[in-house]
Amino acid sequence: MNHCMRSPKKSGREKDLTGRYFAGKMNEDEMRGGERFGGKSKNYQQNKTIRTAELRALEPQNIADLDALPLGEVVQVFSLFSEVQFEGKVFLCVVRKTMAKLRSTQLVVGDRVRFTSIEQTEGKDTHNEGIIERIDERQTVLTRADSFKALVQHPIVANAKQMLVVVSLALPTVKWGLVDRMIVAAEAGGLQPILCLNKADLKTEFAKEYAFAEEALAHYRSTGLKTIETSVTLNLGLDELKALLKDNVTVLAGHSGVGKSSLIRAIEPTLDLRVAPVSNYNQKGRHTTTSARRYILGFGGAVVDTPGVKLFGLWKVTRDSLVNYFPDVAAKTAPEWRQESYERILESIPESDFE
Ligand code: GDP
Repeated sequence: MNHCMRSPKKSGREKDLTGRYFAGKMNEDEMRGGERFGGKSKNYQQNKTIRTAELRALEPQNIADLDALPLGEVVQVFSLFSEVQFEGKVFLCVVRKTMAKLRSTQLVVGDRVRFTSIEQTEGKDTHNEGIIERIDERQTVLTRADSFKALVQHPIVANAKQMLVVVSLALPTVKWGLVDRMIVAAEAGGLQPILCLNKADLKTEFAKEYAFAEEALAHYRSTGLKTIETSVTLNLGLDELKALLKDNVTVLAGHSGVGKSSLIRAIEPTLDLRVAPVSNYNQKGRHTTTSARRYILGFGGAVVDTPGVKLFGLWKVTRDSLVNYFPDVAAKTAPEWRQESYERILESIPESDFE
């Protein structure tokens, strides 16, 4: 079935909206980003197609069968639109206004969406554009929190399969309490955590730290967690890491300097996490969001980096349910450092949150 509509002639209502837009008579909601589309703007031409889609998205939804629309995946979220991938093509999409009003959270990387596609031709250029009509229920969700005791959490990645929590043996040394928080954040959102101890080549120099790390890793394994040890300099554990990432969508977590970029570059030399993935539009000065970036792995799968996110949220975790993420605490077999970690996280959960 061909779901692609040629740019239809402007409807009466749309002409009216366009007219009101240029006459400066649109209300605040209609004007979202409007000033950036002003005639004096340098990006005026570039913004024109997005503006057309935005105006069209103001129309009420009138689609009989949403399930028959193409099902795409959100690969990048920008301030005014999102990139949706479908059958190898990228569509610049805006969200149907009527739908946006009904949703409590914004679209995030990894969301699966039903969309109406529109082929736009301007001069010799053909772009794929679309309007997002529905967002499928998220299978997993990773959130960020503004602070340790934050009440409000913001989803940042949807439908990822797992989270690779990277720590380094030294330089910087591991903060096990923060590892525990990341593990809970992953599991609470439905992602499978994998703990990766990098810079294992430093084990002679940092013998004491290594002895403790080995003990900690063995303890995590006893709770059912998957762990690996890697060294980029010694080429250690990299095949195992590659096998774990292949054909999966993996969120990368871990503090700056632990070696996330080096590990990814070692298994996929074309990728540099410090360079934002290329977008159809970001060369043209669009604003990218900084909370999640998705990189395709040539051997299958994708990794999602979350630069700038300091703290993940504990999605729907309550004071009562936290113990479910600490089976060792529940069984009273937790070593002191795990017990302390549990108590610190417990204290950070507001009493009435989500109850
Ligand atoms: P990121 O901030 O987590 O992406 O960390 P980077 O990949 O930028 O690495 C930070 C520093 O650690 C760089 O100087 C790397 O060369 C170094 N590094 C990365 N992996 C290893 C490793 O396995 N062993 C050692 N000794 N250094 C590493």
